[in-house]
Amino acid sequence: MSEVSAPTVCFAKHAANVFFHILTQCNLRCRHCYINPAQHGTQRLELATIQAWLGVMARRSPGANLILLGGEPTLHPDLAAAVKHARQLGYGSITIDTNGYLFHDILEKITPDQVDFISFSLDGPSAATNDAIRGQGSFEVCTRGIRQAKAKGFRTSLIYTVSRLNLAELAAVPPLLAELKIDRFFIQVIGLRGQSATHSEEQTGDLQVSRREWEEHVLPVARQVAARGLAVIYPKVYLAPDEPFACAGRVADNYFIFPNGRVYRCPLCEDFPLHSLVFDRDRLVATAPINESDLFQLEIPEGCVMNKLIQPGNLNYTADGRPACRIACCLIKERL
Ligand code: SF4
Ligand code: SF4
Repeated sequence: MSEVSAPTVCFAKHAANVFFHILTQCNLRCRHCYINPAQHGTQRLELATIQAWLGVMARRSPGANLILLGGEPTLHPDLAAAVKHARQLGYGSITIDTNGYLFHDILEKITPDQVDFISFSLDGPSAATNDAIRGQGSFEVCTRGIRQAKAKGFRTSLIYTVSRLNLAELAAVPPLLAELKIDRFFIQVIGLRGQSATHSEEQTGDLQVSRREWEEHVLPVARQVAARGLAVIYPKVYLAPDEPFACAGRVADNYFIFPNGRVYRCPLCEDFPLHSLVFDRDRLVATAPINESDLFQLEIPEGCVMNKLIQPGNLNYTADGRPACRIACCLIKERL
């Protein structure tokens, strides 16, 4: 499961988050997938390597939140062993991000006390909408997987990546969340990285929702779901004029680990060899400049430097050339 702006935990100062892609292989071909094998590798990490890298990260950031993902992490036959090892290392929380296919009988090999959440990705409240984005049959398989997980006592999240393809149906999601007994709801926003970035403009159309659509359609649904008692987490996206800008690369402790050993601090950099850290065998070492760390230091009126570099179309300017609004760091989440 590798959605746009993958994080499934809030960006919080002083809280470390380790997003560990243990493989890039996947059984689905979602339209907005950000996995980029040329930049992230095609290998499936050996269990010994996973354990070694988990140990390095646990020593570097004790009590970090760990998110195991891919590709589809349940395609890895040693996922359960990785979870158990991470638990022994004292990670603060452990989440598995999955597309719901739950390969290798993963629900039989782990217990609800070993993982904090299983996070399922669904991009529509109906098969028609979801399957057009994620693939034929994926709605039925994913919702079945959620029910199986709930029946076994696992806490579940649902991740919904909003784009023009499913914005209209977002309002129909709250009843589905209730029916599936989802514990936590993540709203993501479509971005242009990885697979989605390689699609032609004709294929992607203009998938990104506008600020107005975000405020008129997405935020009311988030509030409605929160009013029912669920935790709802969604990206900040736009900063109000008086809100301070903060780059997570400077003030937070996030790591995005890929099977080829690259370790990024910023997900917007993941389509480029800009990673600031790399696993050299089982040692985590800094890469030479120029890398993402150098970009984090730049201060521009638009806010996020990487957004300006790779998604300049997201920015609007006033007649006198000033940014009409600033874009927040993609790692900043709001929680209701
Ligand atoms: S489930 Fe979809 S988004 Fe996630 S890794 Fe597979 S193809 Fe990519
Ligand atoms: S998305 Fe922008 S603001 Fe956030 S870490 Fe990356 S460069 Fe910094």
